[in-house]
Amino acid sequence: MRALTIQPLVADSLELSELPEPTPGEGELLVDGLALGVCGTDRELISGEYGFAPEGRDRLVLGHESLGRVRTAPPDSGFAPGDLVVGVVRRPDPLPCGACAHGEFDMCRNGEYTERGIKQLDGYGSEQWTLEAAYATKLDPALAEVGVLMEPTTVVAKAWEQVDRIGSRSWFAPERVLVTGAGPIGLLAAMIGAQRGLDVHVLDRVEGGAKPEAVAALGATYHSADVAEVAERLNPDVVIEATGVPTVVLSGMVRTAAYGITVLTGVSTAGRRTPVDLGAANRSIVLENDVIVGSVNANLRHYASAAAALTAADTGWLERIITRRVPLEGYREAFEARPDDIKVVLTLS
Ligand code: BGC
Repeated sequence: MRALTIQPLVADSLELSELPEPTPGEGELLVDGLALGVCGTDRELISGEYGFAPEGRDRLVLGHESLGRVRTAPPDSGFAPGDLVVGVVRRPDPLPCGACAHGEFDMCRNGEYTERGIKQLDGYGSEQWTLEAAYATKLDPALAEVGVLMEPTTVVAKAWEQVDRIGSRSWFAPERVLVTGAGPIGLLAAMIGAQRGLDVHVLDRVEGGAKPEAVAALGATYHSADVAEVAERLNPDVVIEATGVPTVVLSGMVRTAAYGITVLTGVSTAGRRTPVDLGAANRSIVLENDVIVGSVNANLRHYASAAAALTAADTGWLERIITRRVPLEGYREAFEARPDDIKVVLTLS
C-alpha cells in the first residue's frame, strides 16, 4: 500500500512510500483510509522542525487528521465493517502519569505520551491503517464527506470545555466570543460558539473570500481591522486564539471583559521578540480575575463532544471550509500553503 512518510527532523524527506499492508493486532480494527486532513503541524514535520520516528525506525507515517471506513473489526468491539471512523491522535504515556492514568492523556504531565503521525507512532496517511477499538470514534454515516474535520473539531471541543470549567469557578454567563484566526481551528471554534447561541465574532487578516463568507454563513460577524481596536470595542467574555501570532495573542487577551477567559490554541514560532507592557497586562488580568489558558490535543470525552458538534452542524457549511481536495499522488501540492486555503484534504481512496 501507499503511505506518506517522512524522516523526522530531516527537512523535505517527505515521500510516497510502498509499505506492506498492516495486520490488525488483538482488539484492533483494520481501516481503509478515506481522507487525511493537512495542518500546520504536518508542515512543521515536513520541514524537519519537529517529529519522532517509531523506536528502531528512521521513517514515520505522517498524518493525524483521519477518516476511514472499517474493513474488519473484532467481534464485540462495538464496530462493524462499513462503519465510518476517526482515530484518536494521542496515546497515554506508558508510566502512566496521573493524568494519563485517568484517561486525560491530553493533559499528560511528563511529556512521554505518543501521537499518531507526530510522535513515535505511525500516522493515518496510508491507504490502510490499524486502530485499537478503544481509540476509535464512530461517526454518523452522513459525515462521510466532512468527517475528516473531526480531529480539529476535537481540539476546539476541548478549548470550549476549558472555557466552561474555568468559567464555573464563579457566576458565569458569557455572551460574546472573539475568535482570532479564521483557519480551520478558528472557524470550527466559531461554529461551536454559534451552536451555543453566543454572539460570535471572528477576526482574520484576509478581507475577502471563503473565510468571511463562512463566518457570515454561521450568522457571526467577521472583522479584518486591527485586533486591538476590534477587541477593545467588543469587550468579549471569551477569546479563542487560533493564530499563534504574538501580537494578536497579546492584543486579545488584555482586552476581554472582566472575568474574561482566553484560550490559546495556536502554536507560535519561538525566537521573535515582541515589546510588551507586561505591567499593564498583569494589572488588567489581576484586576479583572481574567484567565489565560493554553490548550492542546483532546481526550476521548472531546472526541465524543466533537462528533456531536459535527452531527449538529450543517454539512454544507463544513464542506465549504474544505477548500481543496487532492488525490494522494498529488501530495506535494497538498502540503503547499496557498493564500485561499482553509482546510486541504488528501483523498486516500
Ligand atoms: C494536533 C494535536 C497535537 C499537537 C502537538 C496538533 O496539530 O492537532 O492533536 O497534540 O499537534 O503534537
